[in-house]
Amino acid sequence: MLMRERYTGLINRYRDHLPVSENTPVISLGEGNTPLIRLQNIPRLLGKDVDIYVKYEGLNPTGSFKDRGMTMAVTKAVEAGSNAIICASTGNTSAAAAAYAARAGITAFVLIPEGKIAMGKLAQAMMYGAVIMQIRGNFDAGMQLVKEVADKAPVTIVNSVNPFRLQGQKTAAFEIVEELNRAPDFHCLPVGNAGNITAHWMGYSEYHRAGVCNSLPKMVGYQAAGSAPFLRGGPVADPETVATAIRIGNPQSWDKAWALQKESQGWFDELQDNDILAAQRLLAEKEGVFCEPASAASLGGAMRDVRSGKIPEGSTVVCTLTGNGLKDPDTAIEQCREARMVTIDAELGAVRDAILSQM
Ligand SMILES: *Cc1c(COP(=O)(O)O)cnc(C)c1O
Repeated sequence: MLMRERYTGLINRYRDHLPVSENTPVISLGEGNTPLIRLQNIPRLLGKDVDIYVKYEGLNPTGSFKDRGMTMAVTKAVEAGSNAIICASTGNTSAAAAAYAARAGITAFVLIPEGKIAMGKLAQAMMYGAVIMQIRGNFDAGMQLVKEVADKAPVTIVNSVNPFRLQGQKTAAFEIVEELNRAPDFHCLPVGNAGNITAHWMGYSEYHRAGVCNSLPKMVGYQAAGSAPFLRGGPVADPETVATAIRIGNPQSWDKAWALQKESQGWFDELQDNDILAAQRLLAEKEGVFCEPASAASLGGAMRDVRSGKIPEGSTVVCTLTGNGLKDPDTAIEQCREARMVTIDAELGAVRDAILSQM
């Protein structure tokens, strides 16, 4: 029996690439090391010779990639002696902040838009014991408030304006390069604040400089059409989309995202909510992978660009699935009204008839 070292999270795994020392008190829940799943059925449906992988970040401890950033942000906050953290959130940041704060024994304050956060995310923030402030306003308003209050109260901001967040998140790119033994040709992500696409580009660039990979991907960011400041060329006042995780009108990493788009020769594009939901469902039905709506923007966009040839045949494509489908059961059930569900008597004949009628 071959023994394997216990995986203890991304800070321990990548400490040589992260701003930590031997004395840094690591706050970890075993985040990172997520599966890179090669799609089998969807490329066949597209009728194109492309290799598409999904990086299933929904399998992080709180169900989204935010854990990668939060292990670093909370670790550094605790190292600096902070007793409280604060963030504005569309949901997943609040879940991650609450969990890592619980682990560290400090307080998490989270500002969420009233009524606009997915059920699973709210349940998480509540269970992990965060102090939840539902604001009558959207994410952008919450973000503005968090930035202002941080000067006036003894709390550390753990939104992605906290540079340690991106440091943690860049490790997803490391994992992909290590697994593929190269960088992909295209890396597609959903874009809200654009912190994650920025972090991935940092990760790829670092490994490229270190000679771990000898090429770099084109970075492709997809937004929801009702919430697409990168397509409009400036902030959107009232962003609206079913993909609540990217319902953000004023991205915090605006300049960095434009810079990496140019450097990587990638692009931004937008998807209608219907196309996002169709991609979410297709991925679940054809590949057995359930992601949340925002996450499906990466695959939905990639499929469209593969079909059109913008992503050429022969390409290796990675799509980040940022969050777990279980986060937002309401949206899932809502769009599966015509799911294959029948109500029958608890009786053998009825079960047999149901089986036969569905085959
Ligand atoms: C946070 C989040 C995003 C957006 O990431 P940014 O870094 O804000 O661009 C996308 N999908 C999910 C599920 C998220 O939680």
